[in-house]
Amino acid sequence: MRHWLEVGRNELAGWLAEAGQPAYRAEQFLRWLHRERAAGFTAMKNLPLELRRILADAGSLRVLEERERRTAPDGLTAKLLFAAPGNALLESVLIVEKRLSRRTACLSCMAGCPLGCRFCATGNLGFVRNLAAGEIVEQAYRLDALARENGGAGLSHAVFMGMGEPLLNLPAVLAAADRLAAEPGLGLSGRRLTLSSVGIPEGILALAQSGRNYRFALSLHAPNQQLREQLMPAARHWPLERVLAALDRYALSASRDITYEYCLIEGMNSSPRQALALARLLAGRRGRVNLIPLNPTPGNEFKAPRPARVREFQETLVAAGIQATVRMEKGAAIGAACGQLRAEASAVGDIPAWPCGQIADNRSFQAAGRVSPARGKAGDAAQSSRLPFRLKN
Ligand code: SF4
Repeated sequence: MRHWLEVGRNELAGWLAEAGQPAYRAEQFLRWLHRERAAGFTAMKNLPLELRRILADAGSLRVLEERERRTAPDGLTAKLLFAAPGNALLESVLIVEKRLSRRTACLSCMAGCPLGCRFCATGNLGFVRNLAAGEIVEQAYRLDALARENGGAGLSHAVFMGMGEPLLNLPAVLAAADRLAAEPGLGLSGRRLTLSSVGIPEGILALAQSGRNYRFALSLHAPNQQLREQLMPAARHWPLERVLAALDRYALSASRDITYEYCLIEGMNSSPRQALALARLLAGRRGRVNLIPLNPTPGNEFKAPRPARVREFQETLVAAGIQATVRMEKGAAIGAACGQLRAEASAVGDIPAWPCGQIADNRSFQAAGRVSPARGKAGDAAQSSRLPFRLKN
């Protein structure tokens, strides 16, 4: 059954016209969906009873069942574990930064992830399925409601940094991002929406061609291809020079600086020599480096470097002319590292944990969806066609 949160204005208007409804019903229904965020059809009193029945038969308003919620002791970070249809478990995180007046939703675009990055709890669990655009929008609306509890303000930012690789589910991610940018809805501008990716050149170029200008964060994590492949096995499909060249194109077309995410891991990628290599790699490029000391997850061999090592890495970059900030991971107390909550659910037999990397190694794995160009109205991006690329040998 269709999720109504992913149906765009044009499609909805066409659907209602076919059902013999006047044009203004589309605006009325969109308001219930994206302004009132109605949880049921009963509340939609200005829609005729018969239309409400037809709408209820044709689609859902909510599909995510909240299984668990953890809130950090400071009350500023909350992590939710949802079950989507088919018992696909996914996580969403709300991060409140009072000093910056930011309330950020960290959204998942997949249940699990096929890419198997070695330092990531989600990567260690494997892939279940792509999420539909409506399931992504619903995460944002549920976190928005959480942010507003006790009189707080709603979301100010959303990042696709939860479970999954956005460029392997690009049509649904773009349809969801377009919806979050729209009114009625959250009305977030392009600079408040960030896609975070391991970097798939074909996907980045498709994004550039789509005309969107969302912010882009590359999960870089290494100053060279060889080390990158050690940390992120799927990176062997995508040579770093091609990734960076595609990103240069996106930075130009979207008029956006790129954020280079660099997770610091003791003994792997955090030496001063590697900081200098990173500075050489990024010299002359638009953007900044975001250093993230690893948020350790149970059962994972990797550790974060000492704070002095982190500082030294940052200072080396800055001295070489690269803008670099350090982001301290929030929410370690609640298992807020990507995939950690789901890993714990898996450990008690709640879901099947697929071997990590199995699907990335399967040459038949193919990303879903072709990318539609940016449209004036939200949520009209195609969602069910195919991306014009697949993992290479
Ligand atoms: S870091 Fe991101 S891309 Fe890598 S396995 Fe985890 S969720 Fe997937």
